[in-house]
Amino acid sequence: MKHPDISVVIPVYNEADTLPILCERLFKSLDALGRTYEVIFTNDGSKDNSLAVLKGYHEQHPDTVRIIDFHGNYGQHMAIMAAFEKSRGRVVINLDADLQNPPEEIYKLLEKIDAGHDYVGSYRDSRKDNVFRTYISKFMNWIRASITDIHMRDQGCMFRAYSRHIIDKIVASHERSTFIPALGYKFAINPAEIEMRHEPRAAGESKYSLYHLIRVSFDLITSFSLVPLQLFTLFGMVVSLGSGLLVFYMLLRRLFIGPEAEGVFTLFAILFFLISVVIMGIGLVGEYLGRVFQSLSQRPRFIIREMVENKTEG
Ligand code: UDP
Ligand code: MG
Repeated sequence: MKHPDISVVIPVYNEADTLPILCERLFKSLDALGRTYEVIFTNDGSKDNSLAVLKGYHEQHPDTVRIIDFHGNYGQHMAIMAAFEKSRGRVVINLDADLQNPPEEIYKLLEKIDAGHDYVGSYRDSRKDNVFRTYISKFMNWIRASITDIHMRDQGCMFRAYSRHIIDKIVASHERSTFIPALGYKFAINPAEIEMRHEPRAAGESKYSLYHLIRVSFDLITSFSLVPLQLFTLFGMVVSLGSGLLVFYMLLRRLFIGPEAEGVFTLFAILFFLISVVIMGIGLVGEYLGRVFQSLSQRPRFIIREMVENKTEG
C-alpha cells in the first residue's frame, strides 16, 4: 500500500505483555473503519521479547504491519519521530502501546479530521495515573501554558491525529529532544481538541520516572520559549536597580548618621537567596546552550537496526 488513508504509529518499549491485547483491539477497530491503513511499531530497544511478538504480527499481516527496530533506547519521542519519517498515510495517528488510549476511540479523531481540522489533540477525561503524577503534570501544564504560545489542555496525552502536511513539516525540522504534540501544534492551521477516555495501564508499569517527567517538561519549555531567559534578565535588572538604591542610601546614611554594623544575618539571607538565583540562572543558560549544542551536532538522532516490512510491495 503506497498511500494508505491512515498510518497508526506506536512506540514500544518492553510492552510484550500488552501487545497481544493492543493488537487485537487495534486491528478490530481499524477494520471497522473501512479505510486503508498501515501500523508502524517502533521497537525502542526493548529488553523483553516485544520484537519477537511484533514480528509475529508482521507475519500475520505482512502488508499492514511495519516494524522499525531501533539499535538502542532513544526514547518515546524519537521512536515516534522515526515512525513519522517512515509513515505514508494521509492521516497519522499516534497511540501509546499500553492501552491507556483506547484504540476504539480512533474514529473520534478521524471525525474531526474529516470535519476539516488538520491537527486533533486530546485531553484525558479523568486520569487513571496516581494522584501525585496527576498533580505534577497539572503543574507542568500550567507552566507551559503561561510561557509558551502552545495551547493544549493536556500536554501529556499523546493520542493525537496529524494530517500529512504537519507530519512532513515535523520530519523536515529534524528536531532532537523535542516534544512532538507541541511541534505539531506549531504547524497546525486549524487545530482541534477532543476529550478521550483514559484507562489504567493494561500491564507492566510506566516507563517514566519523576525525573523524566520533569525533563520532558523542561525540554518542552526551552524548545518553545525564551521567556525563562527573559524573566531572568528582567529579575537581574530589578535587583540591580534595588541594590543601586540601597548603596546610595547607605552612602548618605554613612555621611550623615555614621557607619552601621547590625543586620549582618539579614544581609546573609539576602545574599544566599541571590546566589541561589544566580546558580539557577547558570543552569537555565546551560539548558539553552545544551539545546544549541545538540542541534549543532551531526550525530544521527537514532539508529535503525532493521526495518521489518513487506519490501516487494512498498
Ligand atoms: N516508550 C518508548 N520508549 C521509552 C519509554 C516509553 O517507546 O523509552 C513508549 C511505551 O512503550 C509506551 C509509550 O511510550 O507505548 C508511553 O510510555 P508510558 O506508558 O510508560 O508513559 P506514561 O503513560 O506513563 O506517560
Ligand atoms: Mg502509559
